[in-house]
Amino acid sequence: MSTVTKDMPLRYLKGVGERRAEQLARLDLLSVGDLLHFYPRGYEDWSTIVPIQEAPYGQPCCIKATALGTPVENRIRKGLSLYRFTVSDGTSTMRITLFNNKYAAAKIKAGESYLFFGQVGGGLTNREMASPMIEPSGDGQRIRPIYRQTEGLNSRMIETLVARAIQALDKELDHDPLTPEFRNRHELCTRRFALENIHFPTTSNTLEIARKRLVFEELLILQLGLLKLKSRSRSANTAMIENDLTDEFTSLLPFKLTGAQSRTLRECIQDMRGEHPMSRLIQGDVGSGKTAVAAGAAYTAIKNGFQAALMAPTEILAEQHARSLSGLLEKAGIRVALLTGSMTASAKRQTLEALASGEIHLVSGTHALLSEGVEFNRLGLVITDEQHRFGVAQRARLAAKGQSPHLLVMSATPIPRTLALIIYGDLDVSVLDELPPGRTPVETYAIDSDKRERAFNYIKKHIAQGRQAYIVCPLVENGEESDLASATEYFNKLAEGSFKGYKLGLLHGRMKSSEKEAVMGGFVRNEISILISTTVIEVGVDVPNAVLMVVENAERFGLAQLHQLRGRVGRGQHKSTCILISDARNEEARRRLKVLCATNDGFKIADEDLKLRGPGDFFGSRQHGLPDLKIANLNTDMRLLREAQNAAREILAKDPALEHKEHHPLSEEVRLLFEKVGEQGLN
Ligand code: ADP
Ligand code: MG
Repeated sequence: MSTVTKDMPLRYLKGVGERRAEQLARLDLLSVGDLLHFYPRGYEDWSTIVPIQEAPYGQPCCIKATALGTPVENRIRKGLSLYRFTVSDGTSTMRITLFNNKYAAAKIKAGESYLFFGQVGGGLTNREMASPMIEPSGDGQRIRPIYRQTEGLNSRMIETLVARAIQALDKELDHDPLTPEFRNRHELCTRRFALENIHFPTTSNTLEIARKRLVFEELLILQLGLLKLKSRSRSANTAMIENDLTDEFTSLLPFKLTGAQSRTLRECIQDMRGEHPMSRLIQGDVGSGKTAVAAGAAYTAIKNGFQAALMAPTEILAEQHARSLSGLLEKAGIRVALLTGSMTASAKRQTLEALASGEIHLVSGTHALLSEGVEFNRLGLVITDEQHRFGVAQRARLAAKGQSPHLLVMSATPIPRTLALIIYGDLDVSVLDELPPGRTPVETYAIDSDKRERAFNYIKKHIAQGRQAYIVCPLVENGEESDLASATEYFNKLAEGSFKGYKLGLLHGRMKSSEKEAVMGGFVRNEISILISTTVIEVGVDVPNAVLMVVENAERFGLAQLHQLRGRVGRGQHKSTCILISDARNEEARRRLKVLCATNDGFKIADEDLKLRGPGDFFGSRQHGLPDLKIANLNTDMRLLREAQNAAREILAKDPALEHKEHHPLSEEVRLLFEKVGEQGLN
């Protein structure tokens, strides 16, 4: 047999034909080596045998028992046969039922002992197990891997192929990217041990050891990649800022910068005057005033002869930034423009021309800014707002439109403090830990829907005093179409009912840009008293005169999202209130809403969210823009994450470009991990 190597297409593995190869490709498995890293998504513990008497209820377990007879067929109706037999483990008996599985039933022999894996049900005296997996008891009691499967290819078949790949690649298993000294220092097993035991652990202990090693390696590579990114952005500063114009800028503002804002702006300007381009994250809770700092940085860059671009995740936010920045900066001779996908072609063309010629100094836009046709004359500063919505790759793509421009990313903090530094490992961080003065914390209440009218009366009272309100309509689960329908319906209900005669506006994601702008503009000018909206207002929207936020079906939202929604109020002088309407009865939902009522601190909320929900969706790559991780879990592997980060720092301190021979394998792994993110744009 010719030798198989890890890069060979899977067809070269014994037992894989064309059809099987196609099925494997559906799981992103292309080469023989891919199988090694197709880690199980769970395990069945066939190594711990449980007596029938003590079998846990509703939880899969393994029972070793002897068949007391052969299965008896019971035809329920055409096409459905049950096979039943009784087994005993010496202490008690249990009935086994197989559905339509003639094949499995035929293999059962009276008096033989088997392993049965499944959930035990029935009563205490008549225990039963339906459709268990069955193995002859001689076949070893072990922990079995469960793989993600696809049509025509089940976990067991994958298990066989993985075992074959491990065997075929036997020699490769010893190619360990981590040196023995390194492994010793961090108490990590060899690559061979890790790969063998992640798939076929002999005990839960070896599984843990294997997992630790693989998690550590993956996080190490992630950190090496992120830190390298940072050092690569340490090219020469081609957008040198000669003049610090902070005083000029602050004289434009209607307020005095907070201490945290001044400090952060100073850090930005220092960065932009430095040897290398700036790569900085401004992290600040909702309402901490990140926009003013961004405006200051943009002002400085522009007055030094450069253009600046600000990218926001939603059109509404991009429009708001364009509006407020032009209000602030146009009096100083700075030309501000908007660029979004839903602008008319001619408006877009005009903006594009003016950007290319340098006539426009500052552009605020959505990811439309990333499109091909967008060119700048002298792009010196790229700002992304609500960074957690963008990926590393998008940020990099915008930056590629200039000659290594300065980068400023702003983020409210849906991520706990400790994690942020690691996830944003490629950025320097400034924290806005101070709210502008005169803010009173938003008071938050959770109420049942039968108190809704009282809440509405409360809104009316405030509108009579000239204030404004948001109402976030019920969230529907099946997609945008029905979202739109229900938002409209809800709006009509209020317009004809509780808020008849009031000035209402409706805002949802399906509106055209110009329509959205008209509604938002009306709300900003207080021509609309109550803005009824879907979650499109979730991020960034800033209307200080709005003091009430009502959220329908609050239990359907994540904590971080509710905190963001609440952040739309409490932005001015007036006391603000957030009312969460929910009829949810379950304990968990109640607890989550209570957290919001108890604190306004975004960091605390993010931590609680994490505790209550587990890693949840903000650890999906969709949110933080990191490459997909195969085995590490950024929530539960926190300690290893920190250790890996330190190890990465040490390695790069000695070998910044990973050029030493011993680091070649690591360097290759870094390249592979970041390949999908779009290596090109990362400079
Ligand atoms: P976020 O950090 O959530 O993006 P914004 O930048 O939207 O916050 O600012 C929130 C509100 O606070 C805005 O209305 C802004 O004008 C106001 N603001 C910002 N900085 C100050 C300050 N130093 N003093 C008073 N108000 C401020
Ligand atoms: Mg903001």
